[in-house]
Amino acid sequence: MYEPIIGLEVHLQPKTKSKMFCDCSTQYFHKAANSLVCPVCMGLPGALPVPNKLAIEKCVMLGLALECKIQKDSKFDRKNYFYPDLPKGYQISQYDLPFCYEGVIPVDIDGDTRMIRITRIHMEEDTGKSQHEEDKTFLDYNKSGMPLIELVTEPDFVEKKEVTSFAKRFRRLVRYLGISDADMEKGQLRFELNMSIRPVGEKGLPDYKVEVKNIGSISVLEKVIDFEFDRQKQILEAGEVPAQETRGIRDATGATVSQRIKEEADDYRYFPEPDIPPIHLSDDFVEEVRQRIGELPYNKKTRFVEELGLEPSAAETLVANKEKAEWFESAVEGVADKAIVAEIAKWFIGDVFSLLKSDKEKLASLKFSPKQLQELVILLKGGKLSGTLTKQVLKEMYQTGNDPQQIIDEKGLAIVSDDSELEGIAKKVIEANPKVVANYAKNPNVVKFLVGQVMRETRGKADPNKSEEILKGLL
Ligand code: ZN
Ligand code: MN
Repeated sequence: MYEPIIGLEVHLQPKTKSKMFCDCSTQYFHKAANSLVCPVCMGLPGALPVPNKLAIEKCVMLGLALECKIQKDSKFDRKNYFYPDLPKGYQISQYDLPFCYEGVIPVDIDGDTRMIRITRIHMEEDTGKSQHEEDKTFLDYNKSGMPLIELVTEPDFVEKKEVTSFAKRFRRLVRYLGISDADMEKGQLRFELNMSIRPVGEKGLPDYKVEVKNIGSISVLEKVIDFEFDRQKQILEAGEVPAQETRGIRDATGATVSQRIKEEADDYRYFPEPDIPPIHLSDDFVEEVRQRIGELPYNKKTRFVEELGLEPSAAETLVANKEKAEWFESAVEGVADKAIVAEIAKWFIGDVFSLLKSDKEKLASLKFSPKQLQELVILLKGGKLSGTLTKQVLKEMYQTGNDPQQIIDEKGLAIVSDDSELEGIAKKVIEANPKVVANYAKNPNVVKFLVGQVMRETRGKADPNKSEEILKGLL
């Protein structure tokens, strides 16, 4: 029996207008190759880099959200290596003074929360893109100099599902905070895996480690873990030790191939970037960024469950994105009754979203307000509307944005709970269904059928509880 030991490196493109050290546009998707470049991101001699403040803000925000310490006196460094997609011959990155360090991200596994430690989060620039065709290689530098946030975890993952949970939670977090769209198909979020395996029960790290680079989807990440687990296990069972190497993936199957054997650690000959002065992050700057974080999605979920009494599954759906969570929170504002809160959640997740979905519309295009949904649900819970009527009123609200009470008045959709009116209808129903009525003595449940008939007569407007009472009286 073996278990994996995994550490992750995550590369995330934060959402900014311009690149990390120049004012070239970051919107390179579907643009002509080498159309968004300048002397800085092409690495021409004499060009001077100027750091992008917004990118640094986003890096610090991520660090604060993950409980990192912030390196208030920091700097950029040159990481020297040669590759055709790196025209300068070095990447501007951060070596010994990353902006953020020693954080933590909780992951939920089968109802318990495990902590994954974050070693560091630093800021760097992306490289260009090479495209190989037959015997030629084409280079596009539009991506060169894109801001990149790199997060490195400790080797704390010992199960595949921890990695999956981390990846999903991380993606939701950065979207929630507006740090990045994290669109994996566009390469905005990429994973690198450091993995070895050891016999279950053994502590400490094995004396080898395999690195798998450039994984661009969560499902492939899972497949790579399975593939590497089997591959490394076979080698260990044959009495050998897997090579310390860098591997890559060729396709979505998750199969890895060796790219480079690492005899010793890479030597990038880091040194401080001489063209960018050291960076000081003031206390005010850090505090101001902290203020903008607000409540994090997993804390919000816990609060929805513990304070609002929601089911965990409903809470999870509601915190899927910030907009949804905030809309819901406005809808339950001032409501103390947990049954009403739960009912608002039910209508919001269910009917409101299916209306939006059928029109392919976004939450922002809703014509009615959260407060109006609250009013509607209060009318329902107060017995002023039946479920059927509520659906009708909601549909009308969806189309017009009018108040529920106004719709009820105008369309005559109020529930019929007037005794004499209901009694008249009940009598009619009893007369029309002599066979059913004859069965009542033997099977009192037939009254439900008769209630249904009253509902039909009133097109769903009758108060069902009252109707049943009246029917029973008459029978
Ligand atoms: Zn540029
Ligand atoms: Mn990197």
